[in-house]
Amino acid sequence: MATKKIEIVVSPRPAHFVGDGFRVHNFIPGIPGLDMKRMDPFIMLDYNSKFHFNGSDRPRGVGVHPHRGFETVTIAYSGKVEHHDSAGGGGIIGEGDVQWMTAAKGVLHKEYHETEWAKEGGIFQMVQLWVNLPAKDKMSCPKYQAIENAAMEKVDLGENGYVEVIAGEYNGHKGPASTFTPLHMMNAKLKTGGKAEFNFPAHFNTAALVIEGSIIINGEETAKSDHFVLFKNEGETFTIEAKEEEDAVVLIISGEPINEPIYPHGPFVMNSREEIMQAFEDFNTGKFGYLED
Ligand code: MN
Repeated sequence: MATKKIEIVVSPRPAHFVGDGFRVHNFIPGIPGLDMKRMDPFIMLDYNSKFHFNGSDRPRGVGVHPHRGFETVTIAYSGKVEHHDSAGGGGIIGEGDVQWMTAAKGVLHKEYHETEWAKEGGIFQMVQLWVNLPAKDKMSCPKYQAIENAAMEKVDLGENGYVEVIAGEYNGHKGPASTFTPLHMMNAKLKTGGKAEFNFPAHFNTAALVIEGSIIINGEETAKSDHFVLFKNEGETFTIEAKEEEDAVVLIISGEPINEPIYPHGPFVMNSREEIMQAFEDFNTGKFGYLED
């Protein structure tokens, strides 16, 4: 099998606030070369790099807002996130956990720092991804998967470290998240100098985000923490190695493109303008349900 080469290594753009609780660097779709089509089915990636929030009696976050046509996946690396949606889904996820919300035909939700965590404050670090749905599933029923770290298979790589599988699989070990289309999502947690090999179909859109440490990819190119590595759609295998100075954590995503028209508008991602108009009408007429602010 051929080596999957790097297309670009992207440094984080200046951060902006989503609500008052998420200070994020947007990578998808804002970076040139990383539009929704290029990374389909991963149509949005916001990264809250390590940021210290002071304690607050009123939890910071984002108030009630709608989504339709995709899934929101939140991976907490540090800090705690609380979530409620109009379909009755919700919960608290902490360090190492993942919440996987399928908005599909539509939910209202709100996303906040967890109340007790917010009182103390601390270092907050998380990723939010939007995973697109195929046309046939965009109007399916909303659902919610709370994935605790303990539920994720840890694939032991001996002295190299381990790979924690969220969705899809690594070396035959499956992750707990159920997905609508074939995709892989995992954290490589490598010890100093530790190495892991990955193997995905050439046509899957594949990328890595360096959460901790610095890595060497394919033995040649270096990517520092908070940098995003986009791979070419050629070749299947690549290696990631933690540099000698410190341990590394790397989020790896790889998915089969859905290859349908993508028509985004704000919190809705559909296949056509007509479907976006319908989403606004349904939202304005209360079809997304009710959620208290
Ligand atoms: Mn949201």
